[in-house]
Amino acid sequence: MNKIAVYPGSFDPITNGHLDIILRTSNIFDKVIVAVLENPDKKSHLFTAEERVNLIKKVTSNIPNIEVESFEGLLVNYVKKKNSSVIIRGLRAISDFEYEFQMTLMNRNLNPDIETFFMMTKTDYSYLSSSVIKQVAHFGGGIKGLVPDAIIDDIYNKIKESN
Ligand code: ADP
Repeated sequence: MNKIAVYPGSFDPITNGHLDIILRTSNIFDKVIVAVLENPDKKSHLFTAEERVNLIKKVTSNIPNIEVESFEGLLVNYVKKKNSSVIIRGLRAISDFEYEFQMTLMNRNLNPDIETFFMMTKTDYSYLSSSVIKQVAHFGGGIKGLVPDAIIDDIYNKIKESN
């Protein structure tokens, strides 16, 4: 049976923490769909959903079993539509746990056939988040080693543009 996993998130922008989860998941499942949440509150994001999808595509083009797209609405409905029954989430510190716990139980309540799997972060990336990257880049700090090299310029340029 073809096992498809869906890895949802904002990815605003993708970091090396996200990429590590994508790579490790792609070694386990036949196909991984990286699903970028199209938030109705557009102002809360630096990049549009389309731009976030393109940044992820740019740094995952060497992984054969990856698909990247954006989605709207309920995650469980999207997962079902993609013929999957697996949601992948990453866990960093204890602080992630409460939110993830709540979301997982809610999703199970909405569709008990869909399971959520958690991948523990790599120690090196345990402090990494998209928000921290944006803050550091905004003030001109170095982000090399924290996000894929290929998108560093895209991040600085977008921040300059949005100022
Ligand atoms: P959301 O906005 O849905 O929290 P994010 O784009 O911040 O989405 O992250 C998507 C998923 O990746 C979440 O499960 C988050 O916990 C996980 N994640 C984010 N950063 C890291 C990291 N550095 N290491 C491991 N997992 C991470």
